[in-house]
Amino acid sequence: MFEIIDDYINQIWEPLINPQKRIFIGYLASSFFLAFFIIIFQFRSSNKTVDIRKILMMLFSRRIWLSTSSFADYKILLISRFIILSIAPFLLSTVALTTIIFEWLHIVFDGRIYITGSIPDWAVAVVFSVSMFLVDDWTKYIIHKALHRVPLLWCFHKVHHTAEVLTPFTVYRTHPVEAIIFAIRSVISKSIVLAIFVYFFGSQVELLTVVSVSIFLFFFNLLGSNLRHSHVWLSYGEKFEKWLISPAQHQIHHSLLIEHRDQNFGAVLSIWDRINGSLYVTTRRKERIIFGISGTSKKVHKIQHIFLYPFLEFYQIFTGGIRPSFKKIIPKQNTQLFKVK
Ligand SMILES: [Zn+2]
Ligand SMILES: [Zn+2]
Repeated sequence: MFEIIDDYINQIWEPLINPQKRIFIGYLASSFFLAFFIIIFQFRSSNKTVDIRKILMMLFSRRIWLSTSSFADYKILLISRFIILSIAPFLLSTVALTTIIFEWLHIVFDGRIYITGSIPDWAVAVVFSVSMFLVDDWTKYIIHKALHRVPLLWCFHKVHHTAEVLTPFTVYRTHPVEAIIFAIRSVISKSIVLAIFVYFFGSQVELLTVVSVSIFLFFFNLLGSNLRHSHVWLSYGEKFEKWLISPAQHQIHHSLLIEHRDQNFGAVLSIWDRINGSLYVTTRRKERIIFGISGTSKKVHKIQHIFLYPFLEFYQIFTGGIRPSFKKIIPKQNTQLFKVK
């Protein structure tokens, strides 16, 4: 019993102390400083006096951090950790799947093809790390787009989009079914790349890391990834946003407004959206955004509704009981926005 409680407490703390997780304390700190300087810059460019107290009050506003929507985020995080702890032993591990694919390659090529000596270790490490990153980012894009386009999946992804205010913890506002889909995606994509590289390059395969984290993931998180789920507008500008998804672009993805609908599905790279015509680039000028989805009520922040209603909707769509609608409308007034708990 004590062991289970201990494991659960570790599950809660782990994302804050693990540099592989978005809400690692170091990344939260870097996002805070970035947000702080962005707001100073905005004050200066509109000739306003820089007031540190005012900036801190903006960043830690009760209307955001203590809103009904944010409280739902915190509760989801606490409950999801428990669910993940319960189902993790039943998920296939990357090591197990990599071994299966590795053995399968022996059967396909009738033995081992081993490329050694001709390519330096550093080159193998660079190609491997880039491949790992590209496959990871591309599969995240594919799954995210499917979660929006396939009605049976949208029932579950909708939970993330019912957030009416965004804080870095909104990244965990996901239904457990979505969390499982992404966990399976991660295991499959990593295992395929790893098995292929180990099959051809053996011990030369090494991931380029910083504090045991992929170098790409480390810099992505350090450079303000937490501002994606925030009210701080950080645009990279048209030129860079054709390559990288900025925090402002992800905020556009959360927007209720019709002109922002179904845009910016990408995680790190925006090239996937660019190729498929769903890229929306932003400028330094902050756009009017209302976060959430249309036709929602207070219920969307109730825990029973968040965890159970998607299953009911899934059943209704599956049995043809309801026709799913993706039409987002611009409400006259979003009364739930910034409601303080
Ligand atoms: Zn989405
Ligand atoms: Zn999001």
